[in-house]
Amino acid sequence: MHTATDLNALVRDILTSRVYEVAKETPLDPAPLLSARLENIVLLKREDLQPTFSFKVRGAYNRMARLSDGERARGVVAASAGNHAQGVALAAARLGVRATIVMPRTTPEIKVDAVRALGAEVSLVGDQYAEAQRHAEQIAQESGRVFVHPFDDPLVIAGQGTVGLELLEDAPEVETVLVATGGGGLVSGVAAAIGGRVQVVAVEPELSTAVHTGLAAGHSVPVSPASIADGLSAPFAGELALATLREQRATSVLVGEEAIEDAFRWLYERAKLACEPAAATALAPLLTGQVEPRKVGVVVSGGNVSAQIASGILTRR
Ligand SMILES: *Cc1c(COP(=O)(O)O)cnc(C)c1O
Repeated sequence: MHTATDLNALVRDILTSRVYEVAKETPLDPAPLLSARLENIVLLKREDLQPTFSFKVRGAYNRMARLSDGERARGVVAASAGNHAQGVALAAARLGVRATIVMPRTTPEIKVDAVRALGAEVSLVGDQYAEAQRHAEQIAQESGRVFVHPFDDPLVIAGQGTVGLELLEDAPEVETVLVATGGGGLVSGVAAAIGGRVQVVAVEPELSTAVHTGLAAGHSVPVSPASIADGLSAPFAGELALATLREQRATSVLVGEEAIEDAFRWLYERAKLACEPAAATALAPLLTGQVEPRKVGVVVSGGNVSAQIASGILTRR
């Protein structure tokens, strides 16, 4: 089903993407203390500096910019407890499209408020993401509104792929790029964009392994994520993402919860960077020695962390 034609289409969609109507071209910052410790060059791709503080707005906007006039008039629906919700809400505001975001009732109030502040309607349903997703899909089906998926959509993947293009443009000498991975939208976009020239590594928590499990099985398999890196808790990996990762010879690495927390503290203390646990996951395999520290780009995928979670991690050691 997925072929080289899909990869070509993905690359074309990346090159023609419209993310810069809303997303920033983020800086690629040197990390001198990390580089010294690892005796090599570490560069941090600062997606935590996007409006809404994560890369998710790239994919959401790229998908929604391609809605037909009729689809725009009807509006969109999405399900998310986190960064995708804010990405869709901001994209909708820019495009003048009505958005309903279904969030689990357990979503922290600060995240619900952020989505509402961007002008989206929030509907609180279910105790877990899966229930919120079912409800959102049901709304989409009944109302004819487009369901904007957080990762399993070629245009979303293409939008995320622009992260890879920017990274390689700023640092053509980079040999390895580490990408925190949930459902695989970001890492497969990056792999499609630059996987031929750079070793792309999908980094997942041992407690949240949608892509790792899917690659091993040869197809998407349901998983039950339970990591502190809540931004990575996708219940399955996208098939197009898996096919793209195979085709571009991306590798997959799993990291433990302690390594994620260590990486979080390193970024905080030595790079003066407050990111979210999902983003710290990308750095973890360098600190544990699971990935050889060559000239490395680390995608700092998001910065949405509450003071409570951050202080918990920072004081645990
Ligand atoms: C969504 C997200 C990821 C993972 O992206 P996928 O496309 O689901 O693999 C990584 N980091 C952050 C901060 C995210 O919000």
